[in-house]
Amino acid sequence: MEFFRLPSICANCGIEPGTNPWTITTSFTNISALTLLGMFFGISIINHRKYTFDVSICGTCRDKILKRLQLRHRISLGCYGTGIMGVLLWLYLAQTNNEDALAHWIVIVVAVWLLILVAHSLLATRIGSFNGKYFKFKNPAFFREFALLNPDLVKPSRQVRQ
Ligand SMILES: [Zn+2]
Repeated sequence: MEFFRLPSICANCGIEPGTNPWTITTSFTNISALTLLGMFFGISIINHRKYTFDVSICGTCRDKILKRLQLRHRISLGCYGTGIMGVLLWLYLAQTNNEDALAHWIVIVVAVWLLILVAHSLLATRIGSFNGKYFKFKNPAFFREFALLNPDLVKPSRQVRQ
């Protein structure tokens, strides 16, 4: 899928020259009126597609993103640990014969899970996405340059008028 022209600046910071190739995988779910109609009849009509494309990023951004991905991976592993901790905590609370044990347990488990979810999504790297028709980039400078090079590949509202 290489039918677009890349700006020479880094797709992540939009400042440094982009020197390292970086592959972006973006999944896109198309939910239409047909999907809702399908749900009514118990049929799943969801158009789920995955797109992969390459951009260029600078060395600093690459290191930063790789570190974030590593941390994110560790958090995913931590989720399993939390599951085990949750069971142990339940065993402990059950022993205390406290009437509120279940309520306490639910509050703690939900709080921990929310914390993990928030951290996990904060660490997600979203440089850009493609929905099968248009590209979108988080960095405004890069997005602007991309729109200039590929006017047909960005939403008409984001096209740069010359
Ligand atoms: Zn950069």
